Amino acid sequence: MSECIFCRIAAGRAPARLVWQDDEAVAFHDLHPQAPVHLLVIPRRHLVSVNAAAPADRDLLGHLLLVAAQVARSAGLEARGYRIVTNCGADAGQSVFHLHLHVLGGRPMGWPPG
Ligand code: AMP
Repeated sequence: MSECIFCRIAAGRAPARLVWQDDEAVAFHDLHPQAPVHLLVIPRRHLVSVNAAAPADRDLLGHLLLVAAQVARSAGLEARGYRIVTNCGADAGQSVFHLHLHVLGGRPMGWPPG
């Protein structure tokens, strides 16, 4: 079975435009941006989605949100705002089954999402 693409990016075995990396998380530009700024924040450890997270993952999940806010600030999104999204499962349209937070900004966002 081929290795998950986000595991490969986290391990440096697949290319990505990284904007953040630490012991637990990596952030990089989405390959098909849906907004002027579209970043993805992932845990290095493979987790399918928040649906697969356990109470022991509480610190990691909090860390991912803090990294999302940090990369949003670094991208200049703090003043006007931005959206953090995580798709979970088929109805949400999840296409990569390694937990990731989308950080979207640089344009007004509609609500509710499609
Ligand atoms: P989702 O549909 O929520 O699972 O989001 C997956 C996201 O990953 C999509 O926005 C894709 O454009 C993005 N994506 C898939 N492969 C790559 C890749 N190799 N590098 C960067 N972004 C990717």
